[in-house]
Amino acid sequence: MVDLSQEAIGDNIGCVRERIEAAARRSGRTADDVTLLGVSKFQPVESLLAAVHCGIKLLGESRVQEAEEKRSVWTGENPEWHMIGHLQRNKARKALALFDCIESLDSAELAEALERILNEAQEKRSFPVFVEINTSGEPAKHGVLPDDALKLFDTIMQHCPSITIEGLMTIGPLTDDECAIRASFSLLREMGNSLRNRTGLYLKHLSMGMSGDFEWAIEEGSTFVRVGTGIFGIRTP
Ligand SMILES: *Cc1c(COP(=O)(O)O)cnc(C)c1O
Repeated sequence: MVDLSQEAIGDNIGCVRERIEAAARRSGRTADDVTLLGVSKFQPVESLLAAVHCGIKLLGESRVQEAEEKRSVWTGENPEWHMIGHLQRNKARKALALFDCIESLDSAELAEALERILNEAQEKRSFPVFVEINTSGEPAKHGVLPDDALKLFDTIMQHCPSITIEGLMTIGPLTDDECAIRASFSLLREMGNSLRNRTGLYLKHLSMGMSGDFEWAIEEGSTFVRVGTGIFGIRTP
């Protein structure tokens, strides 16, 4: 694996921010409307620290154990940590201790497991999640299918008062086809509109767009882009 220097990471972040700003402008918005999350899975802690030093305020990790290892040696200013990978129910407790937001909530069973743990605490808190939607229909992808999303929302709103759904998340299809990728993002935007109407939730965020497609995602309405290799360079899983 090639670990980039702090300078190279800083340059990458600057370049990504410029592209975010240009795409936001094309969609009639400003860069302030789009949050940049640095996806740091499989990257060494030094690279994460460099990114935070260069102004990254949120980091995304896809595995509980890796996040735990990184947080245990973390020094200095803490960013916000987001869970972006599939979360197994038996890791729910650890995930709640390690992350500030779970972007990959995709089942009632997981929501209910989170709720039970949150309920044990003396001090009640409201834990933010995004619901992951499988907008591409690819069977290998996690996320609730669009047709099942409303039911999941109803369950969470009725049975999980400690969980606040703040947005939707999706991963674009694995293809070079711009039309197919944009269709997946515009479906998430439409689902946000419809779920907002039907539930009354604010649903501030649409988390969509990665290194290869974040500009299209912003043009389709993304408020939250998850960029890994574009900031940290290639990773070897
Ligand atoms: C790995 C990952 C990303 C970042 O991917 P890049 O192509 O490296 O930017 C974004 N979102 C999720 C859910 C991921 O697993």
